[in-house]
Amino acid sequence: MEDCVFCTIASGAFGTEFLYEDDRVVAFDDLHPQAPIHVLVVPKRHFDTIADGVPAEVLASMVAAAKAVAEKTGIASTGFRCIMNTGSDAGQTVQHLHMHILGGASFGEGLLARN
Ligand code: AMP
Ligand code: ZN
Repeated sequence: MEDCVFCTIASGAFGTEFLYEDDRVVAFDDLHPQAPIHVLVVPKRHFDTIADGVPAEVLASMVAAAKAVAEKTGIASTGFRCIMNTGSDAGQTVQHLHMHILGGASFGEGLLARN
């Protein structure tokens, strides 16, 4: 999609370093990290949100990317949080489906808690 920053990044046009890449998704560091490890998993094909008819194989690649990124960044054993903000109440600011992978610190037990 034109004028979509994540479409452009995923196409490789910015030369972004990918921590993971397969046929369907890429993963790269968030520009404004909110945890010691903060990586975004982004489909190469444009979807607005998780509710935009995302094929099962794309979702499978996103999960595979999360596992691979966690192992590569050393947070597989300590744990990590995966978040897909959807719509305005969730605070979605980039209208191209993405999954945050956050780790390297304890976020506490509550859904939204962060120590
Ligand atoms: P969300 O609020 O869930 O839509 O998250 C969007 C995320 O994208 C934020 O954490 C931003 O810091 C991140 N972001 C925006 N532009 C870029 C970019 N050019 N490269 C990397 N991360 C970005
Ligand atoms: Zn896009």
